[in-house]
Amino acid sequence: MRRIYNFSAGPAILPVPVLEAASQAVLEINGSGMSILEVSHRGKDYEAIHQDAKERLLRVLELSAEEYTVLFLGGGASLQFAMLPMNLLGKEDTADYVHTGEWSKKAIGEAKRFGKVNVAASSEDSKFSYIPKELNLTAGAKYVHLTTNNTIEGTEWKQFPDTNGVPLVVDASSDIMARNIDYSRFDLIYAGAQKNAGPAGVTLVIARKSYLETATDDISTILSYKTHAKGDSLYNTPPAFPIFVVGQVAKWVEEQGGLAVMQKRNEEKASVLYSALEAHPDFYEPAVTVEEDRSLMNVTFRIKNADLDKAFLAGSIEREMDGLKGHRAVGGFRASIYNAFPKAGCEALAEYLHEFAAKNA
Ligand SMILES: *Cc1c(COP(=O)(O)O)cnc(C)c1O
Repeated sequence: MRRIYNFSAGPAILPVPVLEAASQAVLEINGSGMSILEVSHRGKDYEAIHQDAKERLLRVLELSAEEYTVLFLGGGASLQFAMLPMNLLGKEDTADYVHTGEWSKKAIGEAKRFGKVNVAASSEDSKFSYIPKELNLTAGAKYVHLTTNNTIEGTEWKQFPDTNGVPLVVDASSDIMARNIDYSRFDLIYAGAQKNAGPAGVTLVIARKSYLETATDDISTILSYKTHAKGDSLYNTPPAFPIFVVGQVAKWVEEQGGLAVMQKRNEEKASVLYSALEAHPDFYEPAVTVEEDRSLMNVTFRIKNADLDKAFLAGSIEREMDGLKGHRAVGGFRASIYNAFPKAGCEALAEYLHEFAAKNA
């Protein structure tokens, strides 16, 4: 099997042992004589996979199964932008949102359809190049929402705000399981799987059970958190194969040593790239200037002379590096280096950054 350095922001690189387990499961699971693509979601073979994925996720995130539940839903993180306020924000209620990029913009846009939104802070004034530190929170807000890692802009929350008892809800699509943080600070975590947790096709919603109980009942059945909590994410046919792969990714993270090991590796990897960029301050420009706000997952940068962009990208492809082009909303470059991305790939890119700067400066 040939592997190139896949810097794609999502869908993104997965660990090879996970791909191997997934290939095997496509052929047959548990000596059942059936593929994971073929088995009933009500049968015992699938049931074991479903429960195992849930249990592993909670274990990896160090959350208690007494207090938290895992839902496997469809529709991507984008559906959660709407489903969250639909379930937890009444027409007369207010939610606080921190505006840190393209994804929070969409989350805010959807929430406004269902209730009142207070933008508690925004970094739009500087093209989302930092994480706001001062929040203007609403007393009695239903929840505070933030995006733990801003995939497009390359910023990441390192410290989470004190919300004074107001539930904290996070979009953790691009850094779930990547850092050794206290996930019990959050009352609801949602994440499209395809960045750090698995393939596209399943969205994780991990929530405090007592918080989900406060969701409204006056909502269409399929869009109700309570439906999926009560039905153990088997109210309708779940995306069995993506859920299997998520379980394998969680297993891989556990076997590597869990969140502490992921964080350490991710810090080392990111540091290889940020140091390479900083070695050529007249040539490259990291998009995020506030060092402590820099993402460990998405390293965003520009070449000061944008005329060189095309040549840089072409050279990266020649070196078997894919996916370095920045998001169309911001331009420049982005190296996405999720949990499964190897340090050797960061070193290869660092070497290329040096060579390219030396040749073109
Ligand atoms: C990718 C991404 C989304 C959108 O996810 P979909 O699953 O494509 O809907 C939302 N939020 C963040 C932070 C993301 O990185």
